[in-house]
Amino acid sequence: MNYKLNTLVRSNIRNLIPYSSARDEYTGGEAIYLDANENPFNAPQNRYPDPLQRSLKQKISILKEISSDQIFLGNGSDEAIDLLFRIFCEPGIDNVVLISPTYGMYQVCADINNIEVRKVLLEPDFSLNSDSLIQACDQQTKLLFICSPNNPTSNSFPREEILELAEKLNLIVVVDEAYIDFSERSSLIREIQDHPNLVILQTLSKAWGMAGIRLGMAMASTAIIKLMSSVKYPYNVNRLTIEYAIKALKDKEIKEMWVASILKERKTMVKNMKKFRFVQKIYPSDANFLLVKVKDPKQVYNYLVSRKIIVRDRSETPLCEGALRITIGTKEENAKLNKALMEYQRKFVENCET
Ligand SMILES: *Cc1c(COP(=O)(O)O)cnc(C)c1O
Repeated sequence: MNYKLNTLVRSNIRNLIPYSSARDEYTGGEAIYLDANENPFNAPQNRYPDPLQRSLKQKISILKEISSDQIFLGNGSDEAIDLLFRIFCEPGIDNVVLISPTYGMYQVCADINNIEVRKVLLEPDFSLNSDSLIQACDQQTKLLFICSPNNPTSNSFPREEILELAEKLNLIVVVDEAYIDFSERSSLIREIQDHPNLVILQTLSKAWGMAGIRLGMAMASTAIIKLMSSVKYPYNVNRLTIEYAIKALKDKEIKEMWVASILKERKTMVKNMKKFRFVQKIYPSDANFLLVKVKDPKQVYNYLVSRKIIVRDRSETPLCEGALRITIGTKEENAKLNKALMEYQRKFVENCET
């Protein structure tokens, strides 16, 4: 591979003079701030947040053992995804390659940015088809998204296969690790040192239990992070989110406790699901959800809704025909799901079969 970042970046972005905010220009400490037309009352919320989120990045850099300038923070990882499109993909000209099925936001962002999407089906066992992925790429391919563990198939992909793609292809390989904390496999974060075209996405929305505060991360070479910072809105992460995240990230143990509980429940849920006669297949999961193939998925879905239990109908997704995606809840929630499914079986399955 002959990777040159500059040849991948859109020319308007290469030549961009980014917005310089008042808080970029003066970065000293205590002062009388009359530079940003803020209200002098209502401290501290009267002040614009740090556009570079330095104190929060410092915490994350310790947690992830990488340098602060290899971290981008955004309004969810969804912001990072959109920025990558806007930095690398020329509307109407460039394309991106996705595995299929995968997380829906990549396609939506591509459509919004008028970027062609080339989808490469996973194998029936949900493994990667590396040769087909490579064949799908051409000169105009700027991004390859590998979601691992993958949503909605719930499996993850071998690190060697992902790294080999990054090594062979002259484009940005985005590895979405939203579910990495639930996985047997370890993160590819360390690999950004040796793979300058690798972008790792993580989020506080899943294992850390903070979907509501909207904080996503991208980890990559300083050159890519610099581009992302210059294209983002100046104050893309708000003061309340920064403050909350700094506090919450101190308690790594509680996150680990939640993950342990979810993994234990995942095991129990698999065991319970196996007993149902309308369950045809439970796919091995490396995430905090199960993909379960059932007979009459719409009927199961609607019955659960009538019991006020909402799962995700993925029965029309390629390779997931007939499947529901079920997030692992608390022990109590999962017990209620199990009870509802037992009632469903009694009502709809046993009658039909006799
Ligand atoms: C849930 C999820 C995210 C999280 O997105 P945020 O914007 O950070 O909440 C990212 N990627 C995948 C594949 C997901 O399933």
